[in-house]
Amino acid sequence: MRMKLDLHSIVGLLLCCVFAACEKAPKAKEKPAPAPETPKAPLIQKAEIADWCPEHTVPESICTRCNSSLIAGFQAKGDWCKEHGLPESQCFTCHPDLKAKFEAMAPKKK
Ligand SMILES: [Zn+2]
Ligand SMILES: [Zn+2]
Repeated sequence: MRMKLDLHSIVGLLLCCVFAACEKAPKAKEKPAPAPETPKAPLIQKAEIADWCPEHTVPESICTRCNSSLIAGFQAKGDWCKEHGLPESQCFTCHPDLKAKFEAMAPKKK
């Protein structure tokens, strides 16, 4: 009986040691959450506005045939060809050299 008791106590002791070791086991260090990466976005987004009226070979922003509200502005400046109903600066009939000038401004076709 004595031997058996001893064995039990030894086992008990061992178990105690094991548990104690477990308790003392250092916990895995928690890594600090990594800072969220902010995607680098360009501050100025390239917005290429196709300011061109291919129909009338002039910039869309000054195309009086597409935007009749521009006519008054050209007439006020005296830039108006009554004969052709166009700004003088866009009248290719009166100023054939303008056509080449505007064609040079035209965006190149891809
Ligand atoms: Zn137009
Ligand atoms: Zn004209």
